[in-house]
Amino acid sequence: MPGKIQNTGTPNERTLNFWERLYLPEIFKGLGYSFRKVVKEPMYTFQYPEEQWYPPDGYRGRPVLVEEDGKPRCVSCNLCAKACPPMAISMETHEIDSVKEREPKWFEINMLRCIYCGFCEEVCPEEAIVMSKEYDMTFQARTEAIFGLERLLVPEERLKDRLDYLKRARNPQFGQNWDFKRSNNIHSLRDRAFVKWLREGGAEEVESAATESAHA
Ligand code: SF4
Ligand code: SF4
Repeated sequence: MPGKIQNTGTPNERTLNFWERLYLPEIFKGLGYSFRKVVKEPMYTFQYPEEQWYPPDGYRGRPVLVEEDGKPRCVSCNLCAKACPPMAISMETHEIDSVKEREPKWFEINMLRCIYCGFCEEVCPEEAIVMSKEYDMTFQARTEAIFGLERLLVPEERLKDRLDYLKRARNPQFGQNWDFKRSNNIHSLRDRAFVKWLREGGAEEVESAATESAHA
């Protein structure tokens, strides 16, 4: 329901008295107010770029890919690209000979399109793409704004703040059912602790299906 418009003004509030009509006293009053603010109140501005602002852990700067043991943690599932509202993410997948099975052959984010919404981080099942604290980017050409793997990959250690923040602040219901573990890669069942766990539970057919698909 829309609210009712209230007029909170007082009658004659815009009628000027003699001193206000002279203008100069009001101007000096205004200057005095500004001077008091300049002298007495703390300064909130930074002398950028000499002084840099260090954002809090929850800040959403440019998205980056987590580099783990020198390789992207990403399994190239394409979920982030699907979730990205301005369609800033594109990638090509290739298969690799490791338990991870898939990795991006190339991965690009068009930083001119990115709106820093963090949806990619939200949907990523591997915590492989996270929002960093980097907020100042400049480009001299549009092509420079397309970041490939070489600019997107950031070592895990340098993203510790954000990864810890996600552990703390993510929807707790999410964490109850699933937590990031290297062995918890839902895109592959080959040689996984999960398969062992299924076998112990008597789910032989799941194991054989997984093994067949792995060797196909
Ligand atoms: S932060 Fe939002 S706009 Fe930017 S790449 Fe991620 S999903 Fe796309
Ligand atoms: S959602 Fe995560 S794992 Fe999937 S392609 Fe994007 S970054 Fe990689």
